[in-house]
Amino acid sequence: MRKPLIAGNWKMYKTPAEGVDFARQLAPLVDGINDRDIMIAPAFPALEAVGGALKPTSVALGAQDLFWEADGAYTGQVAPRMLVACGCRYVIIGHSERRQYFGETDETVRRKVIAAVKAGLVPVMCVGETEKEREAGQTFPILDKQIKNGLKDLIADDLAALVIAYEPVWAIGTGKTATVDQAQEAHRFIRSHVAELLGSTLAEGMRILYGGSVKPENISELMAMPDIDGALVGGASLKPDSFSRIVKFN
Ligand code: PEP
Repeated sequence: MRKPLIAGNWKMYKTPAEGVDFARQLAPLVDGINDRDIMIAPAFPALEAVGGALKPTSVALGAQDLFWEADGAYTGQVAPRMLVACGCRYVIIGHSERRQYFGETDETVRRKVIAAVKAGLVPVMCVGETEKEREAGQTFPILDKQIKNGLKDLIADDLAALVIAYEPVWAIGTGKTATVDQAQEAHRFIRSHVAELLGSTLAEGMRILYGGSVKPENISELMAMPDIDGALVGGASLKPDSFSRIVKFN
């Protein structure tokens, strides 16, 4: 059985102090929960402080991005080992906002997945189609391309912990959620595609998160689908109350 993972992506919100305040409020709300994994991904400057505040809890720390080199003259970049030193266990890679605004490509995603794996971080690789691509009937070819290219040259042994987040771009921050059937269909496709590429053992054990306007009101119906193993939550992860209600889906 796959253990559910509920992950919060704080994007460019929250200073270190605001993040610590959140973590202190979240802790009692999720105390004792161990049948699902929980992760929060603050912006880089807040990683260490939020990681410290989450230490007594079972909530893991994640980063929103990384660079693939170990160190060097790369102004503005953050190396995998720096994330590890801040206490990160997860790293989000290839979020659609990075693809859309910061030139992230399937090739940079691939390099980052390799770097994450080498550093012992769990990559949360994001894939998803735009509204135009969906309307043109291109959803599966796009997912196929993003997964094939993003995982090229990697082998199943490297990817035992891999998490894929299916985030239809048209559902991120828009209030539009994919229907549970649309989400399940895409998740099923992703799992069978990964099975073809890397084998069914990896694919059956791999967690696939849904992302796109997840809220306390829709998490339970999403989690009832057989191939949805958790959620990557943006807006609703910014308040301890809404995030904890998502974590406590039943
Ligand atoms: C996200 O940031 O990955 C996301 C899905 O955002 P939201 O939940 O706000 O749509």
